Amino acid sequence: MKLDISLLNFYNSIRSFRSLVLGMSLLGAVGCATRNGIVHRYTETIGSGQTWNSDGETKIIILIDGLSQSRLVRSLRNGDAKNIAKFFVLNGKPPQTAIAGFPSLTYPGLTSILTGLPVSEHQIFGNRVFLDDRVVKLESPRQWPLLQSYLREKSIFSRLRLERRRSVSFSYPFYEGSTAYVYRNFEAGVHYATEDYRLADEKTLESAKRFFSQVPVQEWPDFVFIHLVSVDGIAHNDGDASATSQKSFRVIDEQLDGLFYHFYAAKKLGRTVRVMLTSDHGFVQPQKTFLLDKFLDDIKFHGTLLNDRRVARIVLDKEDVRESLVKQISQRNEIELIGFKRKKGIWIQNSKGSGLIEFDHDSRACSVKTGNHSGRYRYVWRPNGGGSNIDTGFRCTEYFFNTSHIKSGLFSIPMLYEGISGVPDNQLTLVAGVGVSFESITGGEHGGISSDEMVVPLLLHEEPDGFPSRPLGQFEIIDKFVYPNQH
Ligand SMILES: [Zn+2]
Repeated sequence: MKLDISLLNFYNSIRSFRSLVLGMSLLGAVGCATRNGIVHRYTETIGSGQTWNSDGETKIIILIDGLSQSRLVRSLRNGDAKNIAKFFVLNGKPPQTAIAGFPSLTYPGLTSILTGLPVSEHQIFGNRVFLDDRVVKLESPRQWPLLQSYLREKSIFSRLRLERRRSVSFSYPFYEGSTAYVYRNFEAGVHYATEDYRLADEKTLESAKRFFSQVPVQEWPDFVFIHLVSVDGIAHNDGDASATSQKSFRVIDEQLDGLFYHFYAAKKLGRTVRVMLTSDHGFVQPQKTFLLDKFLDDIKFHGTLLNDRRVARIVLDKEDVRESLVKQISQRNEIELIGFKRKKGIWIQNSKGSGLIEFDHDSRACSVKTGNHSGRYRYVWRPNGGGSNIDTGFRCTEYFFNTSHIKSGLFSIPMLYEGISGVPDNQLTLVAGVGVSFESITGGEHGGISSDEMVVPLLLHEEPDGFPSRPLGQFEIIDKFVYPNQH
């Protein structure tokens, strides 16, 4: 996730026209008033006379935004993740993996994790969404209330609320339906706005630790979500493999140990605490740019561009002819692929050929069912220079997520289908090629379909019974974790 700097301008303007003393006292006042905020709100709500159900366990997801599998493996090897290795009992084993959705971006990905729905069903197709004929950037804190409308009645928090079960969110953007959540107060706003992500995480973990130390274990919620943003923020600026990136991970690992302490303590008091550590996407380092807005200007494109840097969508105007546009774009080797909806499935095309991904709603043939979604996908690829078609037949989701298809790249097929099939007919989805950014060279970017961007870790402490050992798709995670006995 990358935050909008408009908030920074807002805080800067406050600073410039008010005295520093007033600014300081404002910070102080808000700091004191909210110090025990979430504990207070939680205990008020649960003590309000309502009866609560509980399965007697607390399940916690720690989401490290932007942590790829390769990145975690490196940190484990360097000794920068000692506490994580110990808590999740890795004993030198490689961490279990999950597959991020397509596009591999924070807002579509976290919405899938928290709702259990693929992108096609929750309809957040990028960090930018096209709403009422305008481009809305979900990264901007101003749009977070809008983001909640996508989560309403669908988030795990809302589902648990319907079951009269309690949940808590330590995430500034994602909280809809939770019993209590952290407010984006002035202080946290400043850390986000000044891009001091490390301090933002420190505050998040501090309030989580305060929560677990002050709320008696028998009153802990059934589900807790903790969202940490510094790994992503620093990797965007300095690169995923940079020294600052490495150091920031060591700091997180140390701070997490203070949180793990409360979970060990709860176990001694008889509380079952199951913890998952996972991520929404990984990273690649851009080597070159392909300035998409300039290219579209040059070919006299009339519509709207939603540019998420490694992935983009273009909304066609009445005057744009799709066929000729697809032809011009797919010839460029900076584009990994261009995709759009067809009557039967989705069509993908690049300079090497074209393919069709189809979906069969008949779930009876698949042993895997995910919430209200299950899938059989079929992928047919036709190379330009002739040669044989690749036709895998209809396959269940789990087929694509097995280890050999993570190596071959086929793992992205179901996610491509889910990320493109729900997009309106007049839109095209573009994926940047290896090492290409559609905007500018930065330390790191993501959004595309490479394994560095899409293969993420999934670690478990006190694994629920029956939790699959195969790699899980992002939209499968929440049901398997919170409702393990229903499949
Ligand atoms: Zn990001």
